[in-house]
Amino acid sequence: KFIAFEGGEGCGKSTQAKMLAAWLDRNGKEVILTREPGGTPRAEAIRSLLLDPPEGSWLPEAEALLFAAARSDHVGQLILPALERGTWVVCDRFVDSSRAYQGYAGKLGDEAINQLHEFGSAGLLPDLTLLLEVDAASAASRATARDRGKADAIGGRDDAYHAGVAAGFKAITQRDPERFRTIDGSGSPDEVHDRIVAAVAPLTKG
Ligand code: C5P
Repeated sequence: KFIAFEGGEGCGKSTQAKMLAAWLDRNGKEVILTREPGGTPRAEAIRSLLLDPPEGSWLPEAEALLFAAARSDHVGQLILPALERGTWVVCDRFVDSSRAYQGYAGKLGDEAINQLHEFGSAGLLPDLTLLLEVDAASAASRATARDRGKADAIGGRDDAYHAGVAAGFKAITQRDPERFRTIDGSGSPDEVHDRIVAAVAPLTKG
C-alpha cells in the first residue's frame, strides 16, 4: 500500500510520516519511509537544485519539470519496485504537492501537472493521501527558519503564494474525496498520530 502525506510548510507531516512508518513496522508490515522531492540519490540531487538553485530562481515551467523528473526517478527506482514486492510506502509529499504548489499557487494549472505525471510516473497515485491541516498561525510558528529558507529559495514566495497552496490542497481533496483524508493537525504529535492511525487502520486489514 502507498500512503502519502501532504500539507503546507510547518504542518507536521514529516514527524507524522515517521510515526506512521514506525507504527506500520510495529504492526508487522514491511515499510519504507521516503520523501519528495528526493527519495533516491538522483532525485535528491534534483532536490538540491530546486531548494538551492545555482543562481536566482527557476522559471515556473522549469520548476515543475524538475519536480516531475525527481518524481519519475523516485517512482521508477524506489516506489514501484517496493509496491511490487508488497512493501508499504510512506511518502512525505507526492504529486498533490506539485498540483497545489506549481499547479495552483504557481498558476500552471492542474492539467499541465497531470500531463507531466502521466508522462513521468505513469500517473501513479497513492492508495491514501493524508492532508494535514493546521491554521496559518500555528504553521508559521512551527515552520523553522530552515523551512522558510527552503521555501523562499525556490523563489518569489509570499503569504499569498502559501495561501494559494492551502486553497489548492482544499480544491484537490474535494475533487477526489475517496483518496483523501483531511486530518486535523492541531494538538500534540501523539494526538495527531492517533487520528492518522484511525484513518490508516482499515487499509491494514486484508
Ligand atoms: O516538505 P519539505 O519542507 O521537505 O519540502 C521542501 C520544500 O519544497 C518546501 O519548501 C516546499 O515548499 C517545496 N515544495 C514545492 N513544490 C513541491 C514540493 C515541495 O515547492 N511540489
